[in-house]
Amino acid sequence: MEITRTSLDTTRGSADWFTGDVYLDPVAAAPPPSRLTANLVHFMPGARTNWHLHALSQTVYVTEGVGLCQRRGGPVEVIRAGDRVLFEANEEHWHGAAPNRLMVHLAINESDEQNPAVQWLEPVTNADYSAAPPID
Ligand code: MN
Repeated sequence: MEITRTSLDTTRGSADWFTGDVYLDPVAAAPPPSRLTANLVHFMPGARTNWHLHALSQTVYVTEGVGLCQRRGGPVEVIRAGDRVLFEANEEHWHGAAPNRLMVHLAINESDEQNPAVQWLEPVTNADYSAAPPID
């Protein structure tokens, strides 16, 4: 048996960037020349990101629960464990948990000196969030 230990604390998602209770566990953050960062993000029911965009795109892979996501101008979509979502470069969007379900996803980002991993925008309003289709 071999156990590889982590010494990194779980951090709470900042209220400047998230609505509700969100917890982040760092998965990968290699120094340059790597551009990769990955975080396991735990959204409690009702929690979600602000609107935001990624200059170099983002892939999220849902590992647990039921969530929601939306690109600006599009419908709110339901995502479930095993689903993968590509947010294209500079596509404004948000993602989070369903109102009544936890959601955990692995968020895979790239960044470099010219391109931050994320650019944050305004919170998702309750009106926008509640436009989600019903969760079966
Ligand atoms: Mn995103």
